[in-house]
Amino acid sequence: MESNQQFCLQKNNSFNVRTICPTIHILNTKDDLAKLPELITDNFYILGEGSNTLFVEERAPLIIKPELKGIDVFESQDKHVVKIGAGENWHNLVETCLTRGIYGLENLALIPGSVGAAPVQNIGAYGVEFADFCTYVLWYDFASNQIKTLTNQDCRFRYRDSIFKNELYNKGIIIEVVMAFPKKWHANLSYAGLDVLAEDSSPIQIMEKVISLRQAKLPDPNILANAGSFFKNPVISMQQFKSLQKTFPDIPHYPQAENQTKLAAGWLIEQAGLKGYRERGVGVHQQQALVLVNYESTKGSDIVDLAALVQQRVFSKFAISITPEVRMVTANGEQDFAQLIKHK
Ligand SMILES: Cc1cc2nc3c(=O)[nH]c(=O)nc-3n(C[C@H](O)[C@H](O)[C@H](O)COP(=O)(O)OP(=O)(O)OC[C@H]3O[C@@H](n4cnc5c(N)ncnc54)[C@H](O)[C@@H]3O)c2cc1C
Repeated sequence: MESNQQFCLQKNNSFNVRTICPTIHILNTKDDLAKLPELITDNFYILGEGSNTLFVEERAPLIIKPELKGIDVFESQDKHVVKIGAGENWHNLVETCLTRGIYGLENLALIPGSVGAAPVQNIGAYGVEFADFCTYVLWYDFASNQIKTLTNQDCRFRYRDSIFKNELYNKGIIIEVVMAFPKKWHANLSYAGLDVLAEDSSPIQIMEKVISLRQAKLPDPNILANAGSFFKNPVISMQQFKSLQKTFPDIPHYPQAENQTKLAAGWLIEQAGLKGYRERGVGVHQQQALVLVNYESTKGSDIVDLAALVQQRVFSKFAISITPEVRMVTANGEQDFAQLIKHK
């Protein structure tokens, strides 16, 4: 294990904000895990590549950073099984699989971040989710000091949600994921943007299309700091939707199970007049209102203030509360957005 004191995390978060943690412990091997329970004496945060994390203060808590590597492929008659270390980069995994003739992840190309974080919010894009291929997750439990196997069902995957955000939050660390890909592959071209491709497109062609669509829509965090979609798309009851639709007949919606429907948070923000809004070096992206960007601030609190303004303007116009997808981290660990802005 590698440990550093007073470590600056500016290069470890895609919002490029400056924050310093008292200690960072970098896990390189499974043997490092046993040392963790005694090292975690204070508030802490598990950090992957920081592409869904906003450090909101100049101080961060103790950081645990899993960097366990390895992509191992096993083959049976009808499927490929791939075991991946939590510290691998997600997009690198997608490319590695496709170049080795293992298909399925093409729609999930170019999502930033680590493999270990993928189950946490059940990453998804273009009609495909991590959960679609996950067989199980290997999770190190702090309390028992043991590695546990959580099946796909145990992980309770939902839209941008899983057990790791809820019951198992901060009780352990994802160290490996195991995914299975049927050899009989079917293209998933149902999602808008991919439906222009020919039925017989190859997985590589689909990946290339996904990459070009994403590059056209989303700012590259290496050029303009951001954490992708800042807010979750709100899911509301059909009844509430019908009444909204009377005032806003063009409101886009995507019907869900249990008589609910999903709205596009980006559309709500745009209609609230905030697309391209900019203040104190941060702003709402010019092309994609769901993305908050950091032009030149070093302070996470500037982004929190902007997010609060966006939330409040959307609520004033639609009476819908949009909530952040991005995780907010203070010196005392992760904090709920509502609590964070209450104390402002
Ligand atoms: C430009 C851009 C586009 C994006 N597009 C998408 C998209 O299309 N779909 C999508 O779903 N997301 C998207 N995201 C969000 C982001 O890519 C994902 O949330 C990704 O999984 C974050 O990975 P990370 O390693 O950076 O996680 P971090 O931000 O470091 O951590 C995220 C959460 O996971 C926890 N965590 C991280 N590693 C572990 C571990 N090993 N064990 C336990 N907990 C852990 C952290 O504590 C934290 O709660 C986008 C982000 C950006 C910047």
